[in-house]
Amino acid sequence: MPQESLRAFIQRLEMPRYRANQIAEWLYRHHADSLDQMTNVSLTDRRRIAELAEVRVSSPTDCKVSADGTKKYAFTTDGGDVVESALIPEGERMTLCISSQVGCRVGCTFCATGAMRLRGNLSAGEILNQYRSIPEREHITNVVYMGMGEPLDNLNAVVDSVELLTSPHGYGLSNRRVTLSTVGKPAPLARLLKRCDVRLAVSLHTPFQQQRRELMPGTRGYDLNELVAMLRERAREDRRRVSFEYVMLHDINDSLSHADATAQLLSGMHTRVNLIPFHPWPGNDMQPSSPARIERFRAQLERHGLTATVRATRGLDIEAACGLLATRRPQTVQPQ
Ligand code: SF4
Repeated sequence: MPQESLRAFIQRLEMPRYRANQIAEWLYRHHADSLDQMTNVSLTDRRRIAELAEVRVSSPTDCKVSADGTKKYAFTTDGGDVVESALIPEGERMTLCISSQVGCRVGCTFCATGAMRLRGNLSAGEILNQYRSIPEREHITNVVYMGMGEPLDNLNAVVDSVELLTSPHGYGLSNRRVTLSTVGKPAPLARLLKRCDVRLAVSLHTPFQQQRRELMPGTRGYDLNELVAMLRERAREDRRRVSFEYVMLHDINDSLSHADATAQLLSGMHTRVNLIPFHPWPGNDMQPSSPARIERFRAQLERHGLTATVRATRGLDIEAACGLLATRRPQTVQPQ
């Protein structure tokens, strides 16, 4: 419950206004997992609150650990589905990659989550629980909404969860440490940017609109040039770099003409293109671009003056790498 909603809730119960601050402090500073722990809230008030609300933390139901230190956590949702998140340690950084939906309706042809189709939206609480309930919480430096789901398709819950992650009443992470990955549908993206201030990583995957619609069927009906124009304007206004993600698929989108067209599309924009090695999965016959081809593509972008990087593959042995988060069955193993 974002702070404004919490205040309204407390007001409806005719309790003093400061109760909302006390409760937020218990939840996000002291990580209370029950109303009983909130000892500076009177017992009478706690009882009244308990009639209408609950404090709930759901522990992960599974944790797989990769040889490279990446962990994949699984959680059971209120609807009985399983959702996954990945914790990626890297030097001083510890990045938590969280999910916003179970499955995804964008249906990208290279993504295991897309193959699940959409099974449901997560509530703000279920999104935040992926952060709140893991033992490494205090060490997390960055949160990325790059797990299962398209955040813009679950806008209200995502905005509420971002607010609670970043506000001083919530977990207090810096906005600069929260990144939202999206296919970038212009109208909901504009609504998101009005309501919260986060870094963006926009899934491009090809500079050609028709091919993009084939690779990412959920972008049909959206104009790529309109999206890029909007992002260009944003980058100009707040001088922030927008990242673009580009999964490297052999003989599909990894030619030099794709690199040239990408550079043309993004020319003059303060941006970075992040090339993501594709990870094959059963039932999908796409092939990854070779490291040499990825490097050739990256070098071509740089020749055009774009900043381009190659994302390191993490957690492949536990299916936590990009595009592999998908659940087949609920797990009951205890976290390690
Ligand atoms: S890549 Fe992202 S948007 Fe596309 S299907 Fe997978 S989760 Fe959805």
